[in-house]
Amino acid sequence: MDPHVDQPPSESTPLFREHPRSFETNRFVYPVVSRRSGGVSIGVNLNPDKVCNFDCIYCQVDRVSTSETKFVGREQLLAELDHMLSLVTTGELFAHPRFRDTPVTLRRLNDIAFSGDGEPTTYRDFDEIVSACADVKRRHALDAVKMVLITNASMFHRPAVERGLAILDANQGEIWAKLEAGTDEYYYLIERTTIPFRRILDNISAAARVRPLVIQSLFMRVAGSPPSPAELSAFCDRLNEITAAGGKLSLVQIYTVARRPAESNVTPLSNADVDEIVELVRSKTGLTTRRYYGGL
Ligand code: SF4
Repeated sequence: MDPHVDQPPSESTPLFREHPRSFETNRFVYPVVSRRSGGVSIGVNLNPDKVCNFDCIYCQVDRVSTSETKFVGREQLLAELDHMLSLVTTGELFAHPRFRDTPVTLRRLNDIAFSGDGEPTTYRDFDEIVSACADVKRRHALDAVKMVLITNASMFHRPAVERGLAILDANQGEIWAKLEAGTDEYYYLIERTTIPFRRILDNISAAARVRPLVIQSLFMRVAGSPPSPAELSAFCDRLNEITAAGGKLSLVQIYTVARRPAESNVTPLSNADVDEIVELVRSKTGLTTRRYYGGL
């Protein structure tokens, strides 16, 4: 998740602003330089058809143009990942015109991220593809490189996804689950899905009882209005319910719109608004937070 937003950026140079999901002739694997993560993130797109089970009002995936690639070609995806790992680890990537301005300090591989143009866990054989990607990483002796899943948590209850999460745990996995509402009403306004909010909360709680999760929360103005104090308070209550149920949350990332969203009435919060939310979440939950400012 897209992103959900795959790389909440606050960076200002084109190198950081441009995160196209293709590289040369690749269909499934793309490199992103992220100042936030301090290196290169290799994205794996399991939703080339751009279909998602959410329809977030702030989604940045371009669904106006249709995609030529409808299905994941497993062998091609693995070959692209293998090649991309070689390009980054040998430094060859940084000879490419789009990457030659990458600062030396960022010329390191930080992670492989399952995100892309939809919800990655809706991919039917999610466990198998995660396992195969972990094998490729192992073949390159990249044991320290993280595998990040960016997800809306809607499918964690599926056995293949549960198995996939366990495979991630065994391979330096990090799960970044999206949660950006406290009430049903706001959840449906923002995410525009038929999936019940309760399922998302239960899935996050269950997964967080097994391993610590990172929560990704994007807040914004909708038709000029930021989330109400009551909504933000309810959001903190949901976080507290997860931890009270034994869930471990290692970090809450709070950010706002940084790229053109699906709906034109969605605009970023000011830096001061983001700061206020961060302080509220800290004081009401005691959780570790990190902020990312917006701007379009
Ligand atoms: S619509 Fe799907 S891809 Fe877009 S932000 Fe929402 S969950 Fe992510």
